[in-house]
Amino acid sequence: MTRNDKIKMKNTIVEIDGDEMTRIMWKMVKEKLLFPFLDMKLDYYDLGLQKRDETNDQITIDAANAIKKHGVGVKCATITPNKARVEEYNLKQEWKSPNGTIRAILDGTVFRGPIMVKNIVPAVIHWKKPIIIGRHAYGDIYKNQEIRVPGPGKGELIFTPQDGGKPIKVTIQDFKGPGILQGIHNTDKSINSFAKSCFTYALDQKKDLWFSTKDTISKTYDARFRLVFEAEFKKNWEKKFKDAGIEYFFTLIDDAVARIIKSEGGMLWACKNYDGDVMSDMLGSAFGSLAMMTSVLVSPDGFFEYEAAHGTVQRHYYKYLKGEKTSSNPMALIFAWTGALKKRGELDKTPEVVTFAEKLENASIKTVENGIMTNDLLKVATPSKKNKMAYTEEFIDAIANNLKKNY
Ligand code: NAP
Ligand code: MG
Repeated sequence: MTRNDKIKMKNTIVEIDGDEMTRIMWKMVKEKLLFPFLDMKLDYYDLGLQKRDETNDQITIDAANAIKKHGVGVKCATITPNKARVEEYNLKQEWKSPNGTIRAILDGTVFRGPIMVKNIVPAVIHWKKPIIIGRHAYGDIYKNQEIRVPGPGKGELIFTPQDGGKPIKVTIQDFKGPGILQGIHNTDKSINSFAKSCFTYALDQKKDLWFSTKDTISKTYDARFRLVFEAEFKKNWEKKFKDAGIEYFFTLIDDAVARIIKSEGGMLWACKNYDGDVMSDMLGSAFGSLAMMTSVLVSPDGFFEYEAAHGTVQRHYYKYLKGEKTSSNPMALIFAWTGALKKRGELDKTPEVVTFAEKLENASIKTVENGIMTNDLLKVATPSKKNKMAYTEEFIDAIANNLKKNY
């Protein structure tokens, strides 16, 4: 294959590099699965922890702004520093989570979905299609205030208007003895951004959008979520959904859970913050392996950032540093790249880029279905004589061979 044969990209993808084992795999994926086939246009940001420290985290802000400029980004996993990391990397300070910073700048919602292969059967066996979860990542109990009530007294909820109007006051409980109190909030603006991101991604994926709250019990708070979604749907999406042959469906959270379990999958499920926290972990484990979960940040303005749902796989990296081979799974990283390439190709109207990304996805899935897989998958795959553990590099080479056959 000569350089002239390579598929050309029209516009730029923002590439965000990261840390530890995922940084090692990131490089292999580019060198073995992308560069030989594609003439890539990349705007590169190194979010490795050292670089973030050197730039006082400015590099993270620059990367987020680059996604705003180009519309599409792909990100490797990054370390969110804690005290141990500050010591390990001799950091100036405990820098904030890069994902949090990027999400705040893009005002986005994170959607997670599994990569499905025939020889890994979900815990719920009739789930034939991926279930994608969108979690509202602002407010509710994650931004609460709590009081340990020491003894008898009155617990109240008070809102004081800025314009000097009359405060609104309700009694939560007349305590006869010790107890607990909690105050939570959300904003119309945040809920509306969440709704916009959900409608945007459901349409992008041509999947029905489900949304669920507990509005029968929480008649003002949870009902507000329902009303904001309804209004946004009526105003901006109803016709687009109809034309695409997809539906928006609202139901109670408990009804949604019951229906999802009985379903064959295939929907995008929008969840409030806490529901999304719980349900995404449940689905992640039900679909088999964390290393098979992809993640995409969708902003209400239509910017997309693709990544793997897992972290930097620190334990494997320490083995790698000692010179040991590891069987770390690059599938979600590969699918982060294919997600970004498909989106880029779709926006640029370059179907050959989309087709390449699909071929890479198929080659990756075929490799696992042919029994060549990393150790995490071997533990959950349907037993077969064909199954063989591959180290990371062997696994990527096997994918490259499958891809070349079909390129
Ligand atoms: P992790 O990197 O997701 O790994 C947890 C465990 O899950 C691993 O030790 C491994 O299990 C398994 N695993 C995850 N991904 C795998 C893969 N691709 N292949 C094979 N096994 C895989 O989580 P962590 O160890 O708790 O966090 C490490 C660092 O990642 C932290 O510094 C954290 O801040 C960061 N993090 C970043 C992101 C992000 O950038 N999106 C997300 C989460 C965490 P075994 O050890 O049993 O093999
Ligand atoms: Mg959780």
